[in-house]
Amino acid sequence: MIKFWKQLIDCGNKAVGSDAHQQAEELIFASLKQLSPAAEKMEFTFDGWETSGNSFLQLSSPFYKNFDCWIFLGSGSGSFEGEIHPMGYTHVWNMYPWKRFAVIDKGKIVAYISGRNDGDTLSQTLIEGNSLFPHFILGKNDIALLEGLTQGEGKIYVKGFAGCRHVSNMRGCNLILPIKSGKEKHPGKVVLTAHYDTMYNTPGAYDNAAGAAVLMQLAKIFSEKQPSCNLELVFTDAEEHGLAGSRYYANQISPETIEYVINIDGVGRGDELEIWSGNESFEQSVFKILNSLNYPKKQCYHNPPPPGSDHDPFYRRGIPSCMLTFNDQGILHTPFDIYEESKLSNMHVMCQLVQTLLDQLPEQVKHF
Ligand SMILES: [Zn+2]
Repeated sequence: MIKFWKQLIDCGNKAVGSDAHQQAEELIFASLKQLSPAAEKMEFTFDGWETSGNSFLQLSSPFYKNFDCWIFLGSGSGSFEGEIHPMGYTHVWNMYPWKRFAVIDKGKIVAYISGRNDGDTLSQTLIEGNSLFPHFILGKNDIALLEGLTQGEGKIYVKGFAGCRHVSNMRGCNLILPIKSGKEKHPGKVVLTAHYDTMYNTPGAYDNAAGAAVLMQLAKIFSEKQPSCNLELVFTDAEEHGLAGSRYYANQISPETIEYVINIDGVGRGDELEIWSGNESFEQSVFKILNSLNYPKKQCYHNPPPPGSDHDPFYRRGIPSCMLTFNDQGILHTPFDIYEESKLSNMHVMCQLVQTLLDQLPEQVKHF
């Protein structure tokens, strides 16, 4: 598992459309083909974005400061200058309320600045579609600075540039390995997913080369020892572009043909497993199994499952879904998400957990 994981990390920042992304696609596909001739590519097109890397944001008054920042994927583009105005919150993936500020020029909004209160700057996707305006993300110290300044008397001015281009008909490619059950039973199958693309600013060791490497390990295990249910392993693409790959896949299938979905996204450091699952009765089945294990000791359930990963398009079609993650917000979508041994032990845990779930979850799961 470690070798394949390192190879994926070594590809670099695997933003859709980049050479590194192409390299990762070929690496995964070649590895799957080695396991089985049944491996296939599912190509699709979608509306996405390209970033140019020369974005910046500066405080110009009451004093000069160059902000450490990233832009949202889906941000508007261009230069702007204006006065800062507090503007409530941006809700990221229905999970994280981030403080937001508008930049106002001649009475009109020309840009937005958002940021979390518990960490440094990172990149994220604007899931509601591309914004018309440049939209920056700051870390907690700079958000606190803006909050303090806007509570004072004087005017606060910023200027900046956002380099983000909307691209229609971007090419994406899900990589799929079907594996037949050893049993002759009903035609249903279980879908396992992990995305292999990354945000534009990170090699994505934890998000999600780790998940893809776990999925590849499962592909190896079940190619040697037939699983008890039919499986379809899907290395999804363009997850960072509003879940484009999983959405394409989930819209192709009839929901009745899939028993349930397990999605692996983010195998980070730390000892707390997050389980985003639904509907409730499926969550109860998952809980019964995971609770009977002695590990991981800390387990945190989220229901209904937040929409921030590839289980969501399946869940929206009424398919019981479960997303497993060792959430690591400290390095998520930053250049600091690199190879670290501490992630590897959680990858082994993740691999074991998915096998246990596949073993013990009921063969037929009621849809909702
Ligand atoms: Zn991810």
